[in-house]
This record gives sequence, structure tokens and C-alpha cells, in this order.
Amino acid sequence: MSTPLPRLSIVCPAYQEEEVLPRFHAALAPVLDGLAKNYQVEVIYVDDGSADGTLVALRRLAATDARVRYLSLSRNFGHQAALTAGLEHAVGDVVLSMDSDLQHPPELIPELLECWKQGYDVVLTERIDSADLTWFKRVSSHGFYWVLSRIGEIEAQAGASDFRLLSRPALDALLSLKESHRFLRGMVKWLGFRNTKVLFQANPRAGGRSSYTLRRMVRLALDGLLSFSSLPLRMPIFPGIASIVAGLLYGTGTAIAGLFGGSPLWPVHLLISVMLGMGGMILFCLGVLGEYTGRIFEQVKQRPAYLLKESNMPPNAMPSRVATPPDHSLAA
Ligand code: UDP
Ligand code: MG
Repeated sequence: MSTPLPRLSIVCPAYQEEEVLPRFHAALAPVLDGLAKNYQVEVIYVDDGSADGTLVALRRLAATDARVRYLSLSRNFGHQAALTAGLEHAVGDVVLSMDSDLQHPPELIPELLECWKQGYDVVLTERIDSADLTWFKRVSSHGFYWVLSRIGEIEAQAGASDFRLLSRPALDALLSLKESHRFLRGMVKWLGFRNTKVLFQANPRAGGRSSYTLRRMVRLALDGLLSFSSLPLRMPIFPGIASIVAGLLYGTGTAIAGLFGGSPLWPVHLLISVMLGMGGMILFCLGVLGEYTGRIFEQVKQRPAYLLKESNMPPNAMPSRVATPPDHSLAA
């Protein structure tokens, strides 16, 4: 009996993409045809509450291509939520996510799968900035990842994108993270597993326009920073200590000056030192509260304390952090 082909799921969120979707699928389909010998393929499009004809375009694609599945969310929940919905519904042994505006080249899919065959669980991609990328996007992306790498608990890379491949164990581990503010690029980094990176040249958008307005970019950046760093909560401790030390020094200076005749303005100096000391104490206490709040935040996120990559334990000997793949089978 021949072994069944591995299942491949491709997850593509789509928001207001009626213009680009047919062109994206037309570019994706020949790549999938080329993979048909080696994989059972499903493409999961997630309509993220689009107000245009995206859903109509998806119904049309599903009617003409049996590999197409689609989900349509009740409203616009945002890129990361749409991706999560698609990943949760994917049945593949290997799962790829990519944008549906042709910025992520479908021709790269075989190369990502090649890495999976070599044993990598996570294949990330890194965008080489294309000439038409606005200076603002270039600077903001580099700046954000620089800050995140410095203060966050993950090593982030500039040019990171949501074009990536996950093996089933890595995907199950990702889906076991239930936090509601989802910054998937960071969460995937946090997973660990054997990972590698493929570079790609991002194409300009094939049509429509980017939904990442400044407000959305700031929100995503905040999700990334606040989910992977508790430094902002603890930060007041440092100016607090500095202010207490300054108050003590100032007060001591005022007292010593008082012993040697002092200045007639000594009540003002005394007041300044008391204010520095008190202000410092308040900041210090805020930082201490931040320490505790940060720990509560960690607790409510309920990230597992560890994830397993492999084990030879009998299945019921210990609670496994890696769920077994669901036994769905792709309809032909
Ligand atoms: N997208 C989505 N929900 C949103 C915004 C975007 O599903 O609320 C999808 C969009 O259709 C595209 C991908 O996420 O496939 C990336 O979005 P976009 O191209 O607007 O971002 P950019 O490439 O400019 O960063
Ligand atoms: Mg795009």
C-alpha cells in the first residue's frame, strides 16, 4: 500500500482584495499544480470581514478550484486574527501562510517546502526591501525591530513577514498559545523548534491598497512590544532610583551648607530635595507595582512554561505540550 501524500495547507488572509484575489489565485494555482505529485493541497482563504466583493470572489474561486476552502469572518478582526482563524482550520501536515496581494511570491513555496523536507519545523522569510518600499515603512520596520530586539524577550528581525511555513508540531504549539493580542511573528520566534530563514524580494502590491494605516501599524507594534517585553511596566524604577539618589545628595548638600552658614534660600533647597526624594519614591513604587503587574500579565497569558519538540515517553506518561495532529482528511 502506498503511503498517503503529506497534506499541505496554504493560509491566505484577505481584506478588501476583490481586485487582486483572482490574480493572486491565478499565480498560485500553477505552483500548486506543480506540487500535486507530492502533496495533497488545500488553500484556505480568510475573508476578514471585507466590505467589497472579496467574499464573492472567494465563492467563485471555490466553485472553480476544488482545492479552495474559505472562511469569512463576521467583521474585520485584523490581519493577525484572520491568520489565526486560517491556521486553526488548516488540516495540513505542513502549513504555509502568505498575503493574498501578490507581495509574497508564490514561486517561493517549493523552496520553503524543501526546507521542511530537510527537517526544519519553522521556515521564516525575510523581505529584502524593494526599491518602491516607502522610506517610512523601511525606517519604521527597522526601528521597531531594533527596539523589540533590545527590550523584548525575543530576537526579532527587520523585514520579518507573515509569509512562513510551519510543520504540524510547530503549528500545534503556536495554537496552544491562547493570548488574545496576537503578534504572530513574535509568537513563532518564541516557539523555538528547528528554524531557518529564506530571503525574498517583495513585489509591489498587485492592486488595491495596503490596509496597514499608520494607526494599525502602531497597534501591531504595541502588541509586539507589550506582549514580549515587560520593560515599559518596570521602567519607572530607574528614574525613581535616580530621583531618590538626587534628592538625598541635594538634601545632604543643603544640610552641609547649612552647617557652614548656609544660604538664606535653604527652605527652597530643602523643598527641592524633599520633592526629588518623594517623586523618586512614587516612581519607584510604580515600578514595583509594574513588576507585579508584569507577572500577573505573564500568568493570564497562560503561555506554557515549556514546549516539547520530541520525546520517547509513552503518550499517557506525561501531559504532552505537542498535540497530535487532528485526524481530518482532505476531501478530494
Ligand atoms: N489583511 C487582513 N485583515 C486586515 C488587514 C489586512 O486580512 O485587517 C490581509 C490583506 O488582505 C493582505 C495581508 O493581510 O493579504 C497584508 O495586508 P496589507 O497588504 O494591507 O499590509 P502590508 O503588506 O501593506 O503590510
Ligand atoms: Mg501587502
